[in-house]
Amino acid sequence: MNMHARPADPKKLIKGATGDWEVVIGMEIHAQVTSNSKLFSGASTAFGGEPNSHVSLVDAAMPGMLPVINEECVKQAVRTGLGLKAEINLKSVFDRKNYFYPDLPQGYQISQYKSPIVGEGVVLVDTAEGQIEIGIERLHLEQDAGKSIHDQHPTMSLVDLNRSGVALMEIVSRPDLRSSEEAKAYVTKLRTILRYLGTCDGDMEKGNLRADVNVSVRKPGDEFGTRCEIKNVNSIRFIGQAIETEARRQIGIIEDGGTIEQETRLFDPNKGETRSMRSKEEAHDYRYFPDPDLLPLEFDQAFVDELAAHLPELPDEKKARFVSAYGLSAYDADVLVAEKATADYYEACADGRDAKAAANFIVNELFGRLNKDGKDIETSPVSAAQIGAIVDLIADKTISGKIAKDLFEIVFTEGGDPRAIVEARGMKQVTDTGAIEAAVDAIIAANPDKVEQVKAKPTMLGWFVGQVMKQTGGKANPQAVNELLKGKLGI
Ligand code: ADP
Ligand code: MG
Repeated sequence: MNMHARPADPKKLIKGATGDWEVVIGMEIHAQVTSNSKLFSGASTAFGGEPNSHVSLVDAAMPGMLPVINEECVKQAVRTGLGLKAEINLKSVFDRKNYFYPDLPQGYQISQYKSPIVGEGVVLVDTAEGQIEIGIERLHLEQDAGKSIHDQHPTMSLVDLNRSGVALMEIVSRPDLRSSEEAKAYVTKLRTILRYLGTCDGDMEKGNLRADVNVSVRKPGDEFGTRCEIKNVNSIRFIGQAIETEARRQIGIIEDGGTIEQETRLFDPNKGETRSMRSKEEAHDYRYFPDPDLLPLEFDQAFVDELAAHLPELPDEKKARFVSAYGLSAYDADVLVAEKATADYYEACADGRDAKAAANFIVNELFGRLNKDGKDIETSPVSAAQIGAIVDLIADKTISGKIAKDLFEIVFTEGGDPRAIVEARGMKQVTDTGAIEAAVDAIIAANPDKVEQVKAKPTMLGWFVGQVMKQTGGKANPQAVNELLKGKLGI
C-alpha cells in the first residue's frame, strides 16, 4: 500500500479552530552500531570509560592519520538493511560533511550522502487500528562526534573524545507516520528489530539510540506542509510529547495567518515546548564531497548472502510462528516477541505443554508481578521451567486456577519446586465428590431464599459456586462443583 496515499484517519486528527489537522512525521534515527571498535579506528567503544581514554590518533585527527574501515561495522549495517527488508547497495561512498565544532577534531564528519550502504526498506508497525507499513528511505554509516562538557568547570568547556569516531547508522524513514502514537510505535518496533539483530543495543538512556523528528501539519487531503526538525530526542515518551507540542505550535501559527519556516528546533521536556535552534537561512552548508582518504565501499552479493543466511528469526516472523504453531492471539504473540529474551523464555516454557495456557500465565500473571517489583524477564525470580510446572499442575487438575495464583506467589517470593510445594502445603484440588458434596449440601441448606431465586435466574449459579469454593479454600474442582450444584438445584 502506498503510504503517501493512506487516507487520513479521523481518530488521529488534531482539532484546531479552523477544523481538523493531520500531522505528518518522518524520523531520522541514529543508532550506535554494536561493535568492539570504532568505524575507522581500533579504539574501544566501551561506555563509561575515563574521558579521552578510548581515543586513537585517528579519532583525535592527528595529521597524517588515515581511516581504515572496520569490517564488522559494515556487516552490522548490511545485517540491519536485511532486517529492514531493504535494498543493499554493493557499492557505496563515504563523504566528508564539513563543519566546525570543538568536539569534532577532524573539522568534518565522515558520513554517506549520495550513495548510502542501504536503500529503500520497510518496517511493519502494529497500531490499535491495525498494521501500517512505514517506508525506509535509506540507512547510512557515519561517525559519531565527541562530547562537549560545559557544566563541570566554571570557566572552561571540556571535550571528551571517547565517542568520537564510533559508528552510527542513520536510518531515515519516509514521512509516513501520522500521529505521535504511530511515531512511538515505529521507534519501538525499529528498536526491537535492531536488538534482535544485535546491531544496536537500543539503549536510549546512554544515547545509543536517538531520534531527529520531522514534523509538519496539513488539512487532510492537502499537500505536505513545511516541516520542522526536532533534534536529538532521547526517549520514546519525549518523542511523543515533542510531536504533540510541535504540531500544536504549527497549527496555532497557521491558524493565526502565519506561515511555518523550515527550521531546526530543540525539545525541552521540562518546559514542554520546542525552541528554535537555527532557521533554514542559518542552515549549514556542509560542502559534502567524497572522502579522498577512503575508497568507495564495495562488496559482492556473496558477502550479503552469507550474512543473510545467518540472520536470526526476526520479530515479525517469530510473531507469525507463535500465532500459527502455538495458536496464540496476535496480541499475546506481539507482547511475547517484543523482547527476544521474553520470546525465548516463553518458548522454553511452552515446549511440550499447553502453549496457550503457558502464554496466558506469562502475560497475565508473570508480567504484572515482575512489573510490580521493577524486574524484567532477565531478572525474573521464577524460571520458565517453574512456570511450566505450574501450568502442568493446572492442566492435570492437581490445582485450580485460583490456587495456581497463590502457588505462583509462593514460587515468586520463596522459590522452590511447584509440585513439591503443592504436596507439602496441601494445596491439591479436591476432586473427591464426597467432600465437595458435603460443602454443596451445606450451602444449599443454609440459603433457601437463594435456592428459590436461582431456579428463576440460572445466572445466579455463580454465587453458589463461589460459596462452595470459599468453603473448600479454593481447592474444589470448579467443574465438579458446577455439575453437583446443577444436579442438586435441578437446573
Ligand atoms: P534532508 O535531506 O533535508 O534531511 P529529507 O528529505 O532527507 O531531508 O528528509 C528528512 C526527514 O524528513 C525524513 O525522515 C523525511 O521523512 C522527513 N520529511 C520530509 N518531508 C516532510 C514533511 N513535509 N513533514 C514531515 N516530515 C518530512
Ligand atoms: Mg537529514
